[in-house]
Amino acid sequence: MINHTGTLYCVATPIGNLADFSARAIETLKTVDVIAAEDTRHSQPLLAHYAISTPMFAYHEHNESEQTTSIIKQLLAGKNIALISDAGTPLINDPGYQLIKQARAAQINVVPIPGACAIITALQVSGLPTDRFYFAGFPPTKEIARQNFLTELKPMTCTLIFYEAPHRILDCLQSMSVVFGSDRKAVIGRELTKKFETFYNDSLENIINYFSAHAEQQRGEFVVLIHGAPEINAEIGSEIQAMLKILLQELPLTQAVKLAAQISGIKKNTLYDLALALQKTE
Ligand code: SAM
Repeated sequence: MINHTGTLYCVATPIGNLADFSARAIETLKTVDVIAAEDTRHSQPLLAHYAISTPMFAYHEHNESEQTTSIIKQLLAGKNIALISDAGTPLINDPGYQLIKQARAAQINVVPIPGACAIITALQVSGLPTDRFYFAGFPPTKEIARQNFLTELKPMTCTLIFYEAPHRILDCLQSMSVVFGSDRKAVIGRELTKKFETFYNDSLENIINYFSAHAEQQRGEFVVLIHGAPEINAEIGSEIQAMLKILLQELPLTQAVKLAAQISGIKKNTLYDLALALQKTE
C-alpha cells in the first residue's frame, strides 16, 4: 500500500559546538516543509548559520497537546515536518514524546536523524563503565525529595547519569554525597563541546570541595555521572548475604566477617569484600 502521509523527522542539533551538526540533519531541515522548534528564537541563529530558511513554528511543553493535534493533521495531509529542540536530541528531557507517540499510533513514518546528546557525549569519555548505565534525568529540586530519589538509585551497580542546573549543582552533589557516600567516584562534564569544556573526575567529597572553593566552576551546563554501587558477589547465596547483613548490624565489620566465615565456611577475604559492598548499599 502506498503511504501518502508526510514524514516526521526527529532531528538532533548541536549541544554547544555548531560544527556538531550532521550533513544529513542540515539537508533534512532544508528540505522539509516546516520545522517544529522548542523555541524558534533560540534556534534561529543555528538555522541562519547553515542558511536554512525553512519556516519554523513553536512546539514546547506549554502548547504540546494542541500543537501535536495540528502537526499530526499536517503530516496526514502529506507535509514533511522536522522536530528540533533547543539543543541535542529531541525528547531527551525535551518536548516531543506526545508527538512521536501519536505519530506512531497514526502509522506516520517517523525518521530519526541522530546527533549530539549530552548523556552520551559525557559518558563516552567519562572513564566510567559504559556497558550498562541508567539515565535519571534532572533530580528533584527539594532536598528531601532529592535524597529519597537518590536513595532508590543507591543499590544500582550500573553507571548513573543525571542532568543538573548550575544553580543547583553544589546542593545536588551534596545530597549525592550524603546518600551514595562521600567516597563514591563521580565524573562531572561541564560545558561539553564548548569553549570552557571541563571534566572533574574524583570522589564526591573532593569534587564538592573543589566546587565550593571555585564558585566560577559552578556556571554552565552539567552532566553528572556516578560510579555504580559495588557488585555483590553473585556466587554467595542470598542466605549467607542475609546472615552477614544481620551480623553487620550487631557487630564491627571484622568480627561480623570472622563469624560469618566460621558459620559458612566461605573465605574471610571474599566475605570481607561482600561486607564492604553491603555497607555501601545499605
Ligand atoms: N536534549 C538535550 C540532550 O540531548 O542532551 C538535553 C536537554 S535538557 C533540557 C538540558 C540539560 O542537558 C542541561 O541542563 C544539562 O544538564 C545537559 N546539557 C545540555 N547540553 C550540555 C552541554 N553542552 N554540557 C553539559 N551538559 C549539557
